Amino acid sequence: MITLDGAAGRRGTNLPAMGDFNQSVILEAIRRAPGGLSRVELAETTGLSAQTVSNICRRLLDADLITEAGKEVLGPGKPRTILRLNPGGRFALGAHLDPTVTTIVLLDLAGTVIARERIGTPLEQRPDEVIGAIAASTDRLLRQSGVDARRVAGLGVAAPGPIDPVAGALVDPPNLHGWHRVPLRDELAGRARIEVVVEKDVTAAAIAEMWAGSPSTAGESFVFLYLGTGIGAGLAVDGEVVLGSAGNAGEIGHIVVDPDGPECGCGARGCVAVTCTPESLVREAWSVIDGPAPGEAADTARVDAAFTRLADVAERGEPRAVEVLDRAAVRFARLLSVITNLLDVDRVVLGGPFWSRLDARLMTVLPGEIDRLRAARGIHPIAIEGSRLGDDVAAIGAAAVILDRSLSPRTKSLLLPAFSA
Ligand SMILES: [Zn+2]
Repeated sequence: MITLDGAAGRRGTNLPAMGDFNQSVILEAIRRAPGGLSRVELAETTGLSAQTVSNICRRLLDADLITEAGKEVLGPGKPRTILRLNPGGRFALGAHLDPTVTTIVLLDLAGTVIARERIGTPLEQRPDEVIGAIAASTDRLLRQSGVDARRVAGLGVAAPGPIDPVAGALVDPPNLHGWHRVPLRDELAGRARIEVVVEKDVTAAAIAEMWAGSPSTAGESFVFLYLGTGIGAGLAVDGEVVLGSAGNAGEIGHIVVDPDGPECGCGARGCVAVTCTPESLVREAWSVIDGPAPGEAADTARVDAAFTRLADVAERGEPRAVEVLDRAAVRFARLLSVITNLLDVDRVVLGGPFWSRLDARLMTVLPGEIDRLRAARGIHPIAIEGSRLGDDVAAIGAAAVILDRSLSPRTKSLLLPAFSA
């Protein structure tokens, strides 16, 4: 599991062996306080001693990760120096390999996207060509932004699952043809000459959402429903992103949401994979969408264009298009009620490259329908909202994985030796 919860949820420990962990706790507390914090406030927030806070802040200042930003007078006594994050102290690259379009971003330490590029991912493109294109794009972003490459901590890649996290490989993702056990991590690291980490796209989206969260959302449980060429769920429970035993949690494609729906390759009828994906919605609404039909083999660019037309036609009020989307909303609600009932989450976040085009229409149906099916509806409300991070969410999450790895040592790996000592 990756821990990214906020200062409110994490306390430090004054054991000497926990220095690196404490450093990440302090850095995270400063990162999540836009107005900055004094050393005294840091000690109060983290439970660390004044001496420990002072030593760690010295290290963070020396590493250029934080800056001193003026003094604050609070009643009698010495004015307190305010410490703020130094956004330009570290950077990370993130790439989202989607079967339709690949997005590459450069993120600063504050999580702001300071440069971005989108390149097509044509179906016929071979994996080595796609990998070469991503490497070339990272070079361009670094050159154009003028960022010192020595301050870039690495490149995270969000990719469709299943992934082999040990080999850093993609293992026959259904929507990326020809990607049979492609060692994406090592090949890209060789081309881009940088440390590379591969993460599943839905997990990266959940990490991005958590990374961008406020202290009030620290420790929460949520589901991120990711609508890309395929559909997946990113899960966070009690402030920790759920990875599963091999990084492949969140495969929801064969949950049945319409028992009378079309037959699925798995043998059941009306699975998410054949009733909720952009391709299946486009096929269902075909009679009301103009333009070339998608070919027999999933043609991602054509599906993308037809999906935009479907959303436009529905927005103009074409009754049959509206009916298709309202029916889809009910299926999405059935899917989400299965997940929200299983995990009892605080929040449902919807996003991914296809979501924004459906947002307005689906949100008229989804909240009421999910609530109707929710077991805990009489006990607590849940928030249902679009991602704050827009279509770049998975690329941002991939970059956040790098920042998190280089700045926040894993809680669990550090706790083990401390307990056994
Ligand atoms: Zn199925």
